[in-house]
Amino acid sequence: MMTYANIILPLPLEGYFTYAIPDTMVSRVTAGVRVSVPFGKSKIYVGVVAEYPVNIPNSSDNNRLGSKKITYKNIINVLDDTSVLLPQQLKLWHWISDYYMSPIGDVYKAALPSGLKEEYGYRPRTELYIRLTDNFLHERTLSIMIDSMKRASKQVEVLMTYLQLAGVDEIDEITPDTLLREVTREELMNVSHASVGVVRALVERNILVTYEKEVGRLNGGNPPRPQNIKPLNEAQTEAYNQILLQMMGHNVTLLHGVTSSGKTEIYIHLIQKALNEHKQVLYLLPEIALTIQITERLKSVFGNRLGIYHSKYSDAERVEIWQKQLLDSPYDVILGARSAVFLPFQRLGLVIIDEEHEQSFKQQDPAPRYHARSAAIVLAQMYPGAKTLLGTATPSMESYYNAKQDKYGLVELTRRYKDIQLPKIEIVDIKDLYRRKMMTGPFSPRLLSAVREALGRDEQVILFQNRRGFAPMIECRQCGWVPKCPNCDVSLTYHKNMNYLSCHYCGHTMKVPEVCPCCESEDIRGRGYGTEKIEDEIRNIFPEARVARMDLDTTRTRNAYERLITDFSTGKSNLLIGTQMISKGLDFDKVSVVGILNADSMLNYPDFRAYEHSFMMMSQVSGRAGRKGKQGLVILQTKSPELPVIQQVVHNDYQSFYSDLLVERHEFRYPPFYRLVYVYLKHRDDNTVNSAGLELGSRLRDIFGDRVLGPDKPAVARVNTLNIRKIMLKLENGIDYPRVRQYLRGALDAMLKDKRYGALQVYYDVDPL
Ligand code: ADP
Ligand code: ZN
Ligand code: ZN
Repeated sequence: MMTYANIILPLPLEGYFTYAIPDTMVSRVTAGVRVSVPFGKSKIYVGVVAEYPVNIPNSSDNNRLGSKKITYKNIINVLDDTSVLLPQQLKLWHWISDYYMSPIGDVYKAALPSGLKEEYGYRPRTELYIRLTDNFLHERTLSIMIDSMKRASKQVEVLMTYLQLAGVDEIDEITPDTLLREVTREELMNVSHASVGVVRALVERNILVTYEKEVGRLNGGNPPRPQNIKPLNEAQTEAYNQILLQMMGHNVTLLHGVTSSGKTEIYIHLIQKALNEHKQVLYLLPEIALTIQITERLKSVFGNRLGIYHSKYSDAERVEIWQKQLLDSPYDVILGARSAVFLPFQRLGLVIIDEEHEQSFKQQDPAPRYHARSAAIVLAQMYPGAKTLLGTATPSMESYYNAKQDKYGLVELTRRYKDIQLPKIEIVDIKDLYRRKMMTGPFSPRLLSAVREALGRDEQVILFQNRRGFAPMIECRQCGWVPKCPNCDVSLTYHKNMNYLSCHYCGHTMKVPEVCPCCESEDIRGRGYGTEKIEDEIRNIFPEARVARMDLDTTRTRNAYERLITDFSTGKSNLLIGTQMISKGLDFDKVSVVGILNADSMLNYPDFRAYEHSFMMMSQVSGRAGRKGKQGLVILQTKSPELPVIQQVVHNDYQSFYSDLLVERHEFRYPPFYRLVYVYLKHRDDNTVNSAGLELGSRLRDIFGDRVLGPDKPAVARVNTLNIRKIMLKLENGIDYPRVRQYLRGALDAMLKDKRYGALQVYYDVDPL
């Protein structure tokens, strides 16, 4: 009897695909193995078996399809001997797919490294080895051979070197039982200084043979050195004990510790404890915070028990880490970014999510739009006894609320290590200064004098501007013409170094026009300040400063990013200009002044999270000042010094920030009191997307009433030639969310039956950031 399997394919379509399993392959099919399958007319995909065996309703009682008998295609091949997923991983895929309303095929695409998603994707690395042929594993034959070769003295020399490398000291010891050490061809050539030709000659004479052998890409690393763990001070010890206590009563615990309080050192102690209990640890950081600094610190303690999983690593390396995690001796500690949550864990005991407030834990595009913090918490709950620790100096509203409600444990660490003072934050009202024409470009006199003094004392400076490029837009001074992106509803950003305009939404670029296309004026100028322009002006004002810039444009490669950090920490550069990138977990010794050039652009961003994000950004950036030895100074330039959130940053007053914002969130029905779901509709034609938005909106209102808002045009209402509408759902806590999802799908399916909406793209963003 034919058996069938339900298979996940890498397609953005709901549900599984059913295939028949030929008898010859039955013994190798189980949930979690990869199979290749035919799809459509000519495609072949690598899928993952989700369920096997499954029952197929037979054609007679399948009245939905009438009398037409469905035939299922056979799978082509089974690609694995054992499952590449453990049951927990498959369960996590399902949770993500359900909760975030993303097809499971999209989850599959996000979860596996590419090498595992293609039939011939991953190639093990092989090396060429060389060995004495069996014929000459006899003392006599070998000696005779060598005598006869005397004229080819170079070959003899190479052969003798080979024998030495293989561990043969005396030729007359050789017997067919002699164990030869393996020697690579490269090793032989290096030691004997021989050319490939000489080695080849020996192979042609049948004295040596070559063979290939798989070698791993993963470096072994040093053995672990727990003696490198730093003893905790009193406050840290107290926090450590509190964490263990809180973990006894909670699955998730939040460590709220000011910057530089030594959270990392506490994590290291907790990791060691988990390892002593023979458990594995997953340590998640935002991609950008995964610097040399943190990896070296962990390596120095955990050595070869630490694996690092990072998008800048080669795909082949990621495949090898994946495979290693399934075998007998997996890495015990995985340090990684968002996607590390998908790695297989056999005995997970602890998940650490550092900088838990970071937005980049949420994947925006493409689907699945999941939050790695939520996914990691769910993952930990699948392992008996496993706990999650969230750490940050500025908790997200959601996490802090959960902690206050006692849903999460809460531990607060208010003292910096060695009691280094928090920086002094000075507000500079630039509205007034602009009016009195006292600004030099974007710099206030106070900021310039602080920078000058710091540089004079051989200290370092960080300037923060949350906009890359030279100018956010250019403009014709005669007629007001502003170049816009042809594909999106945004103006183009001017990049002076490369002399082009670019769209930060779709990547479209064009040359800067010499004259205005409307009025032919040549007076086209940039407006506003990006990091590139800040750099230009700073170089003019402080020609002696060693200036570096860190933003997306200067860090396209991993090396460039690490070099900028190294140069700054060794003092090769002493003034660093950057976007939010500079706020992420960097620990510099000599930064005495931090300048926040313009707080207002963040505060005015049209989103309910603008204050939350601004508070966090300003606090984190400020935290870079004065980390060792003396109090740092932060100059915070703003046009709205009266805003409470500015005062809260100045006084490092998280509690007031949190309680003020909580009132507002409650009043306007936002998280953490309500769960948000955004529904996005996209179509080339604005009329189509408009009527689709109205129709879906009214269908949803029939079901959900005033929980539905919109459709509205988002701030940028056209991206990549697609017009966008957004519907917002505000769902009260405690609502039956699985049912909500059913209704949402139902409403959408009903609408999509309309032929006009054939090319409509619709997707959900659950818990949007
Ligand atoms: P956080 O993660 O809270 O910002 P870190 O863990 O990076 O703080 O600690 C800040 C600095 O203080 C680091 O250079 C760290 O090595 C040092 N430090 C913290 N705790 C200790 C300790 N117990 N012993 C020695 N150095 C410590
Ligand atoms: Zn013009
Ligand atoms: Zn664009």
